Amino acid sequence: MAEVGFTNVRIAEFAWALMEPAEGKFDFDWLRRAVERLHKHQISVILGTPSAAPPPWLTARYPDIVEVNAQGQRLHPGGRRFTCPTNATYRRLSLAIATEMARSFAQAPGVIGWQIDNELTLGSSPRCYCDFCKAGFQAWLRTKYKSLENLNQILGTVFWSQTYTDFSQIPVPLPSGGDPNPGLALDYDRYQSFANTSVVDDQLGVLRKLCSSHFVTTNNVGLPLDTIDLRSLYEKLDFVSFDNYPGFFEMLIHQGSKSRNLPPETIPTAVGLGHDFARSIKGPKPFLIMEEQVGKAGQSSFSPQPEKGKVRLWTYQAIAHGAMGVNYFRWDTATFGAEEYWHGMLNHDRSKSPAFDEIKQTVKELKALGSELLNSQYPAHTALMFDYDCGWALKIQPGHYALSYVEQVTSWYGAISASRTGIDIVGPVDDLSGYQVVFAPVVYVLSESQADRIKKFVSNGGVFVTNFRLGAKTENSQMVRTPLPGLLREVMGVTVEDYVPIYSGAQGVKFSSVLSGADGECGMWADILAPSTAEVLGTYTAGQNAGRAAVTMNSFGKGKAVYIGADLTGASLSRVLQAFSAVAKVQRPLEVPPGVELTVRRSNAKDWIFLLNHTAEAQTITISKAFTDLVTGERQSEKVQLGAYGVRVLQAS
Ligand SMILES: [Zn+2]
Repeated sequence: MAEVGFTNVRIAEFAWALMEPAEGKFDFDWLRRAVERLHKHQISVILGTPSAAPPPWLTARYPDIVEVNAQGQRLHPGGRRFTCPTNATYRRLSLAIATEMARSFAQAPGVIGWQIDNELTLGSSPRCYCDFCKAGFQAWLRTKYKSLENLNQILGTVFWSQTYTDFSQIPVPLPSGGDPNPGLALDYDRYQSFANTSVVDDQLGVLRKLCSSHFVTTNNVGLPLDTIDLRSLYEKLDFVSFDNYPGFFEMLIHQGSKSRNLPPETIPTAVGLGHDFARSIKGPKPFLIMEEQVGKAGQSSFSPQPEKGKVRLWTYQAIAHGAMGVNYFRWDTATFGAEEYWHGMLNHDRSKSPAFDEIKQTVKELKALGSELLNSQYPAHTALMFDYDCGWALKIQPGHYALSYVEQVTSWYGAISASRTGIDIVGPVDDLSGYQVVFAPVVYVLSESQADRIKKFVSNGGVFVTNFRLGAKTENSQMVRTPLPGLLREVMGVTVEDYVPIYSGAQGVKFSSVLSGADGECGMWADILAPSTAEVLGTYTAGQNAGRAAVTMNSFGKGKAVYIGADLTGASLSRVLQAFSAVAKVQRPLEVPPGVELTVRRSNAKDWIFLLNHTAEAQTITISKAFTDLVTGERQSEKVQLGAYGVRVLQAS
């Protein structure tokens, strides 16, 4: 590890059975030896608390800490992440081991910080439905609604005779012969997110008290997993850390689609979205990659072998999107256990893995680039809205079985990221005033305060671009009783006359004005728009809605509000969204060909321009002024060459 140049490692995150071999009997000698040996070689340590993997003595003695899934079946010990977030015994014992670790390592030379638990957003079942969670949910509802009368009225429990006369009667959404009350189901998602966050907060409290000089974080995989509201989860933590496995995602997407032909931009775009989200959760603020893929990764199947140059490219992609550091997963490849297939920097026979020298080179380069870059900001003039409430509410009632909020957000991100400008991922309560354009797909749940923020943003000169189902539900999960788009009708300058899920029969869109170009295809949904003050930029082409407005743009105050009523797919979505980036006058720093990603980081008046070639072919980029490549020291003028999976970090010279 010292030979590679590593500055820190993360260890112990699943080692509960070694650290507490029997209840209340702790043994940290082995861990102390490891920390001391690492410190001797100038390698700092991030310690993981082990609550994601309780040992067999614990589950044998306290079997009710094990989670109950959405079908009402209790899981079994033997894997990981099988615990109930509400269970008081699990939480007490998780806190006890974290406290003993904190006491033992608070003053240990070399220990710099903590990772609480491990990948809370992952798990075979993302929600627990046990009796402890039911009681926890009932208490949470009591705090939220204050009285049963209020709860019954807001959630409309009179429907199907569900009026509750005692909080203890309120169920969790287990199979019950019919769909659950959607408002209660949305509250259950919010409760489960809260319960997981409070597990982290428990451990954070003790780490802050005992280890005040250490940083504290937790690692997750973010979008497209939306099981826990990461904005709340990270609120009190020092920074966001994320795990990044592009090759593993590729395998999962293949498995899901059964297709061998993924569009080439699929993986780099999904990874870019993950990084932009990580940077945006607390901030924007630099984040840490806690685990970066170094080889074939997988449990029962291997992901693709990263081609030469890809691990370096993935490392730079993280830095290019705002990471302040990258840790690789893992060092050794295990010859036993569920992750025998998860390849590290050393092979099973402890020879060097194919990416070993590449990582060594990358570590050297990043050290030379320096800490000013790693801690610099990431300027973004574009924002993409992502709201957990919309995602959860649409999972409960998608409206069209094929409508997925996360897929909409992902395809909008893909469409706008192709324009090579910085994008922040913002939430419903974030300040929008620093952006020129805000893209907000399927804002199905809209609160009054969010509507006010959007109104102010447009009024002050921003461009707000949204689409179908806008403002259909209140934050209490009731359908709005005003004509759609409800609270934003005046801002958008349209009324939704009807909303049409599309099953058989094709629908299309004919564009005009700033959108003039090829007709678009409309996928699963069409909001039929009646403009009051908005200009029509697209009309439907088929059936009884032919000629009716599909896309509109309204001037409101100093800004513009765009309503895309049609579910535009593929190339037309990309073309239309990029046209509105142009309306908002978002500048591109350089023109780059498809397959090449461009990002900028900034500190004071200094810019670092990253060019990342995600293709296996060499690429040439034309530049109008001279740059220095900070990795090679070469001066670049007129043209920059990028080899297969190549990277350039440029600064004006
Ligand atoms: Zn539970």
